[in-house]
Amino acid sequence: MRLNYEVFYETPDTVKEKSCQVCGSACDVTRGVYGPSNFIEAKNKMADLYDVFSCPNTDKDWHELALKLLMAIDEMPSKRVAALMRLDLQDLLNENRDNNE
Ligand SMILES: [Zn+2]
Repeated sequence: MRLNYEVFYETPDTVKEKSCQVCGSACDVTRGVYGPSNFIEAKNKMADLYDVFSCPNTDKDWHELALKLLMAIDEMPSKRVAALMRLDLQDLLNENRDNNE
């Protein structure tokens, strides 16, 4: 799972709800858990508690594809190509989000 795209670690009780950056779904939240070291590595607050928000769709194939597209868009230096990629992303989300509600 990709931190800050589909999973988020927040200081406990500072964030009420969070939307997935990939598909816009409301994230599931687990409050007051220790941050796994592989996500929080390099930070000095290893032992702190976090509220963890994660998208309910992260295990879906379409979500993985949407995430790849979104990350590629973020790295795409060409505005025109990025705009086209956004259309693809929108199609993908429109096709799949309906099946999950
Ligand atoms: Zn999502």
